Amino acid sequence: MRKQCLLACVALIFAARSAPALEYIKIKRNNRVVSVTGQVVVEAQDGGVLIEDQMGVLWAIQPEESLAREKDDLPFQRFDASQIQVRLLAELPEGFRVFTTAHYLVCYNTSTPYAQWCAALYERLYRGFFTFWKNRGWVLKEPERPLIAVVFDDQESYASYADEELGPSADVIIGYYSLQSNRVMMYDLTGADGQGFGRSRASTAKHINRILSQPAAERTVATIIHEATHQLAFNCGLQIRYADNPLWLSEGLAIYFETPDLKNSRGWRRIGSVSRVRLPEFRQYLLDRPDNSLITLIADDHRFRQPSVRQRNQAYAEAWALNYFLIRRYPREFVAYLKVLSAKSPLVRDEKEQRIAEFKAAFSDDLEQLDAQFLRFIKRVK
Ligand SMILES: [Zn+2]
Repeated sequence: MRKQCLLACVALIFAARSAPALEYIKIKRNNRVVSVTGQVVVEAQDGGVLIEDQMGVLWAIQPEESLAREKDDLPFQRFDASQIQVRLLAELPEGFRVFTTAHYLVCYNTSTPYAQWCAALYERLYRGFFTFWKNRGWVLKEPERPLIAVVFDDQESYASYADEELGPSADVIIGYYSLQSNRVMMYDLTGADGQGFGRSRASTAKHINRILSQPAAERTVATIIHEATHQLAFNCGLQIRYADNPLWLSEGLAIYFETPDLKNSRGWRRIGSVSRVRLPEFRQYLLDRPDNSLITLIADDHRFRQPSVRQRNQAYAEAWALNYFLIRRYPREFVAYLKVLSAKSPLVRDEKEQRIAEFKAAFSDDLEQLDAQFLRFIKRVK
């Protein structure tokens, strides 16, 4: 199954403004009335508003969805880990449990060893992620709340839960990070669960080995790390939810981090190995890559939204290759570029010209020359 990832943004033009009071908004969405309580992140002159609720969910509310709106002077307070846990369990189908680690809250109805294995991967990524950026001169801020992952035991229950957010795509998207809910959602891709594994240390190890020996292991590990990388990036100040984040950057970065290491007992060891999925795809694309490919990749996100799976995969492959090249050849410039993006406001769209200008300002005015250097570099990658 091909990996796809969803990072949808709402295309509205808003003006940034802060408002500390607690807001109560009643909206009608998908034929349901929903009450949202939270703080305003961004407000538009036409009445549209971006609200963060106490669970960390962002609500982009169109004026026509709003039924009633009030506010008072109570300070906005995010729920703590135990309050979040209670609400999550009430929201999810029957049978879910929660496994907590230092930074994560994993909701699962898989076996406990599978959830523990996912959580261990998350924590390992967390440490690696912060160290990676610190070594490049960027000390990121710790997330303000526990990071939430929901792990379903099978594709069917995952798809029915994800249906509201993904629609028919839920059947082909095998895991995703939701910008709206700020959660990672996925299911047990290995199907290794439900086979009567106990909870002892020995049987957990057996269980993990079993997962890693499944044919789907490579994509399982890659998906877990990929989506968790998106989540981390949006919770430590590296990226801003609902800001104009170029997809070549978001996706290429997540692929840069995801590369599994199935020889390792956890399935993932280090950041930045060559992607054995994306490198061959990019090499194939090079056979008839258009001269303006770099420009079309960075100017907007349309190549990631093509109906053709082949074209989308080419965009993902080139995104990985470009991130790989820039991180290795222009590490300081890459961090400086990310810092420019991380200062953007939510729900403000950049024009193509702006995206290209920011890219040029960070890396090179001469994109033809940079592109030639990029291709020479990738051709030498083994
Ligand atoms: Zn992605």
